Amino acid sequence: MKAIFTLALFSIYLAATSQSFTVVPLGVKGGLDESDLSAYMVAPQGSNDFICLDAGTLNSGIQKAIATGAFSPPASNILRNDIKGYLISHPHLDHVAGLIINSPDDSAKPIYGLQSCLGVIRDKYFSWQSWANFGDEGEKPQLNKYHYAPLVPGRETAIPGTTLSVQAWPLSHGAPYESTAFMVRSGDSYLLYLGDTGADSLEHSDRLHTLWLVAGPLLRAGKLKGIFIETSFPNEQPDRLLFGHLTPRLLMQEMRALANIAETPSLDRLNLVITHRKPSGDNEATIRRQLETDNPLRARLIFPEQGKRLDL
Ligand SMILES: [Zn+2]
Ligand SMILES: [Zn+2]
Repeated sequence: MKAIFTLALFSIYLAATSQSFTVVPLGVKGGLDESDLSAYMVAPQGSNDFICLDAGTLNSGIQKAIATGAFSPPASNILRNDIKGYLISHPHLDHVAGLIINSPDDSAKPIYGLQSCLGVIRDKYFSWQSWANFGDEGEKPQLNKYHYAPLVPGRETAIPGTTLSVQAWPLSHGAPYESTAFMVRSGDSYLLYLGDTGADSLEHSDRLHTLWLVAGPLLRAGKLKGIFIETSFPNEQPDRLLFGHLTPRLLMQEMRALANIAETPSLDRLNLVITHRKPSGDNEATIRRQLETDNPLRARLIFPEQGKRLDL
């Protein structure tokens, strides 16, 4: 009897602490420092089969992560062997520079994204004019290292070489420019990563609202292990100079919209990972202080650091 009771307690403990995803941030900043730009390796917990969400910085982040012991067991040639594909939110340089620069040393793999994003990578970067064409489309000759794998909004796609699947949703990033949110699934658990995005109110858009309609029920069911979302500027940044980005105030406005849809009075079970702070001046510290002092829904704020593994 006592054994059964202990077993029951243990399984409750496991359910409360079980983690689904390993995330290794390779770069976390929204500009300025070219050795630390948006890129997040994600694998199911216990696996070394990663995808990489955006690819602003690759090599510097991998070196940092190896030094901090983020990969266990330590693997050799993470870039070639452990990253099974890239998911690119939008083709701004701070999200693709690492992919382009490291391409000669990379192994063959797919690049996933909305067609609009893949088209820019194909036509503007891997074009022989900006860089050798490592893709399997576009300007000839094609070196066929990267396969362009377009995602259809809302349709789930399995990522070969991993047990992960992904759904893409378009975001508005300074209309008419598009960015992407990726809902990554491992079994019954989800992780939501948003590329750069403006708030619906300022973008005259319903794209975040549409995304919250998908994320809300998962949050409510306890299946959403984390949201990675940008906060590029402090509250003092004038609206006309936001260029399709969020401030702490706008982020919390969107979190209120999510909580309403999830019909929850609090976000205290939500891991809210703040990405893409622009480091000019003391913006990073200011953004952090503004989020921490005005977090009425009590979301669990996480400020990721380059090379420092997160278990979600
Ligand atoms: Zn951008
Ligand atoms: Zn960016």
